[in-house]
Amino acid sequence: MAGMPFSTIATRTAGLALVLALWVPGLSAQTTFKLAKNKYTPQQDVELGREAAAEARQQYPVITDERITRYLTAIGDRLVEAAPASLKDPVYEYSFTPVNLKEINAFALPGGPMFVNRGMFDAAASEGEVAGVMAHELAHVLLRHGTANATRAQNPWLQLGQMAGAIGGAVVGGAAGSAIATSSQFGLGTLLLKYSRDFEKQADLLGAQIMARAGYDPRALARMFETIAREAGASGGPQWLSSHPDPGNRTQYITREAELLTVATPADERGFPTAKAAFASLPAPRSMAETAKARSTEGRGTRTSVGTPGLPVPPPSSQYRTIAGGGVFEVDVPTNWTVLTSSTSVKVVPENGYGELRGESVFSHGVEFGIARATTRDLQRATDEWLNAVARQNPELRAAGPQRVVRLSNRTAISTPLVNPSPLGGQERVSVFTTFLSDGTLFYYLTIAPDRDADALDEAFRRIGASIHLTEAR
Ligand SMILES: [Zn+2]
Repeated sequence: MAGMPFSTIATRTAGLALVLALWVPGLSAQTTFKLAKNKYTPQQDVELGREAAAEARQQYPVITDERITRYLTAIGDRLVEAAPASLKDPVYEYSFTPVNLKEINAFALPGGPMFVNRGMFDAAASEGEVAGVMAHELAHVLLRHGTANATRAQNPWLQLGQMAGAIGGAVVGGAAGSAIATSSQFGLGTLLLKYSRDFEKQADLLGAQIMARAGYDPRALARMFETIAREAGASGGPQWLSSHPDPGNRTQYITREAELLTVATPADERGFPTAKAAFASLPAPRSMAETAKARSTEGRGTRTSVGTPGLPVPPPSSQYRTIAGGGVFEVDVPTNWTVLTSSTSVKVVPENGYGELRGESVFSHGVEFGIARATTRDLQRATDEWLNAVARQNPELRAAGPQRVVRLSNRTAISTPLVNPSPLGGQERVSVFTTFLSDGTLFYYLTIAPDRDADALDEAFRRIGASIHLTEAR
């Protein structure tokens, strides 16, 4: 297939009207907040965050030094205590985990788990600056921005059990993140924990209010952002900024908000130098890249090529290994093929089967698994609708024979043989198999090979197809 791969289809969901929380600055009153539209319950936030946090704890170099964990938890508890009661759902499970990573970063998962990198402490000039970032993260939790993002996304992968791995994958990032994405999800976390500028501004303003009530000068938050901006371009800054984009004029509006707030009895910040000394006694912090490399097993979601399209494709190994896609399926694939994950699909391709050719992204050999939203429970109609959408991206795609009813993982499925001009010249054969998942989402498995290589790959395609096991029923 040339140009847009099939995987783009399912991402083209309708742009819904977004109901964003509004901040309403009064004449002299502090900003008030309204929760954004959210189709999840607070309890679901908690379950999701708990699962993703478990994954993050496995992947991250978590700091267990009690001087540091106690110090961080004391700041966190103080902030939670100061947060508006109306936003503190009793089901939330707050936790504050220090991580021995050098990037200036912190993140909070839905329902409460928060992770703070050592790099954030190292860059901070005062406890107030660390507390500022934590208050900002806590605000994302209380305003439920993670699941509000999921609500907006309208992506059929985003069911609760599947989201956790996505978030786990995203927070870990890089190759390790992709490995998580391969094993448990399709890497949607970037979507869920990448906040809009609106959400950022809300988190800043609510964070400023929480700080003041906890006894910290909210202007410390603005100073920390200035430090982060300065460090952008160095190792750590951009990472935080990529999920927390600068809404612009941060210092001004935080300062303005600070002027409307009364800082409570100042927090005792004497623990800060002690905590810094405790950090200094730890092993040197690692970078995310080092961590990801150490953890990396497979699944290079960011890869844009597997070999060089146009060069000969080696025969599939006779050895197979099992891979999993989300909580959705397991399948056996040749050990010499490479797994590529995207937000809605998994491709498994032989060497030279995927990459850039004459400036175009081509997928000439291999298999793809994915999902697409269906508007009907009629498999024939759902299949045809999806094929029509695919054909719009691949206008020369043609039927190569009649559709047949077949079995896929013990379910009724439809097989559709197609032909299309191969990006390598001549024709390519495309076979598509579609069936429903239990929630009515369409699942597809497709195979692609140029005519000249089709026979050589036929056996592998059949073996892969026969091994598909849909595991999504819970
Ligand atoms: Zn943020």
